[in-house]
Amino acid sequence: MTAPLTPRTRADACPGALQTHAAADGALARVRIPGGTLTVAQLRVLSEAARVLGDGALGLTSRGNVQLRGLGPGSESELGDRLAAAGLLPSAPHETARNVLASVLSGRTGGVLDVRPWVAAFDSGLCADLSLAALPGRFLATFDDGRGDVAGLGADVALLALDAGTVALLLAGSDTGLRTTPDSAVPLALAATRAFLDERSAQGGTAWRVADLVEGPARIAAALGGPRHETVPVPTAPLSGPAGAVAQDDGRTALVAVVPLGRLSGEQADLLAGIADTDLQVTPWRSVVVPDLAGGAAAGELSAAGLVLDPSSPWLQVTACAGRPGCAKSLSDVRADATRAVSTGLLPGGGARQHWAGCERRCGRPAGGVLDVVATPAGYRIGPPAS
Ligand code: SF4
Repeated sequence: MTAPLTPRTRADACPGALQTHAAADGALARVRIPGGTLTVAQLRVLSEAARVLGDGALGLTSRGNVQLRGLGPGSESELGDRLAAAGLLPSAPHETARNVLASVLSGRTGGVLDVRPWVAAFDSGLCADLSLAALPGRFLATFDDGRGDVAGLGADVALLALDAGTVALLLAGSDTGLRTTPDSAVPLALAATRAFLDERSAQGGTAWRVADLVEGPARIAAALGGPRHETVPVPTAPLSGPAGAVAQDDGRTALVAVVPLGRLSGEQADLLAGIADTDLQVTPWRSVVVPDLAGGAAAGELSAAGLVLDPSSPWLQVTACAGRPGCAKSLSDVRADATRAVSTGLLPGGGARQHWAGCERRCGRPAGGVLDVVATPAGYRIGPPAS
């Protein structure tokens, strides 16, 4: 029997929209956006809420969610009312459980099928089952349409389309060998999610992730039953996503705008909402997809507003935690420092994919081959984690 890698002795404290986190610059609210899908009206509601109740900007997270910072005391209830009216809070008890990432541009170009209906069906199934409100805020589901962009993000439960009729179930980032059809994929993902909670209860702990359980993937797969197939290697997730104009299969254009350091100003949000004809998608690479456009004419306007549509821009290589003044633990204003390094062309590591952090906790660090740029009392430490 293998020991759990990280035994948990307490429930996770992931912030939500109603359960906010007290940060140095005020309360922080995290709004779950399953699949990153936002209607134009919802983007406007978020932007207006940030302007009226928070610091005016929206933060995009590595899970395709949206954060509001600098919220004043007692503003949670007004924020909750605004979100609920916009359909962004379909079930208050499930608010932190709705962590779902989906392939970017699915159904528009690339991939072997369209996973967008899976997102809606999984989220409905989740919110319809009160027992699933007990999921930890760190629990993650990913739905990959076969292009391999999100299957490698190490989700607790993941669906990976192998071809138009076959879907693999992954648990804690590895293939279980269990297979299903596209129509049965969401029921299987929901069953695996319930099996996680059952196994957690059987083991008597407060595990946050499948990988925290003793033999979690094996036990959950055994509980689900069914024949096993030869397993496939899981594609490695890319460290950055697409940017700029992308041609869709139907002849239309998607514009993918990267948001430097994930901070979307109110003006930028309004601009994106103004050019969008249909739902937008927030991606795990802190960008926003505006799909189904007649062409890429709006790219210039977005770039002029500070969004990045050039796939070769150094901004695609840089992420940062909140840093000072938002986080009391930070030893530096890492976002200002990173911005200066980009604008002067002096990014460390020759401009390699890098994450700037105000302390060794390195919040928001992407998985994989990322250079750490960590503030210390003696200046920035650049390189792999200290042993
Ligand atoms: S990495 Fe450190 S400084 Fe940055 S947000 Fe996390 S705790 Fe704060």
